[in-house]
Amino acid sequence: MTTPDMVADFPLVTRFAPSPTGLLHLGHALSAMLGWRLARAGGGRWLVRMEDIDTARCRPEHEAAILEDLAWLGLAPDGPVWRQSERAEAYGAALDKLRALGLIYACQCTRGDIAAAAAAPHGPEGPLYPGTCRSLGLVEGAWRIDAARAAAIAGPLFRHDRTGSTRGVDPLALGDFVVARRGLGTSYHLAVVVDDAAQGVSLVVRGEDLDEATHAQRLLQAVLGLPAPRYLHHPLLCGADGKRLAKRDASASLAALRAAGMTAEACRAQLDESLVAYGFRFS
Ligand code: GLU
Repeated sequence: MTTPDMVADFPLVTRFAPSPTGLLHLGHALSAMLGWRLARAGGGRWLVRMEDIDTARCRPEHEAAILEDLAWLGLAPDGPVWRQSERAEAYGAALDKLRALGLIYACQCTRGDIAAAAAAPHGPEGPLYPGTCRSLGLVEGAWRIDAARAAAIAGPLFRHDRTGSTRGVDPLALGDFVVARRGLGTSYHLAVVVDDAAQGVSLVVRGEDLDEATHAQRLLQAVLGLPAPRYLHHPLLCGADGKRLAKRDASASLAALRAAGMTAEACRAQLDESLVAYGFRFS
């Protein structure tokens, strides 16, 4: 299947894809602002997508608060807000395609089983799946991709960054990652590639904590025949303790900063300052 990548270069479409599991903090706002500024500077569009497949953790009130924070910052999406919870059909079709290609298998291992497999090599998201269920022919459970088989049919893979440089992808970086969680019909990686393609996203702007995910997502795009967006992974904002901001750092939430009297203008100025410090320039 070694065909040149269809790099989705034009038009410029970026997206902000929060999971509504809590309040937005300054780090999320930085990501949103960077995508928005790049879209504005390049005459493109900036979209918002709620990554709410995990119905146990996602809440409508978090979604409402995120949209309120974005509006407060003055970041209005250039199109309707998408919700992954409404896209099961599209994910099902992609999963069927992977199944028809013979690339997925059901797995009934628990996290504990995987952690206990002493020989399991580690990837960025923890121990790589040791392949226990790969040839058992199970028909239910979580669905995993057979990454080596997918890599063999995909051929050499590349990822393309915003500035035009290209580097190789390691299709085995996340091992046989999950493409459909038990009972959900999809996973983060599958939903993201299906939606990025369906929304015409040509530049994925997100934090560098998701850099490794790009390997898995490029593999999925290749076997599903989806275009390759460009990627920009920005540094993560850190708190006073030097650790990256997390949803539990309530004091860095936009809601808390607002309640403490910060104006939207001051918040935007602070975010712009961080972006400049990271080397971004907007004309
Ligand atoms: N939903 C993910 C998050 O909130 C972002 C995923 C992405 O940008 O691909 O961390």
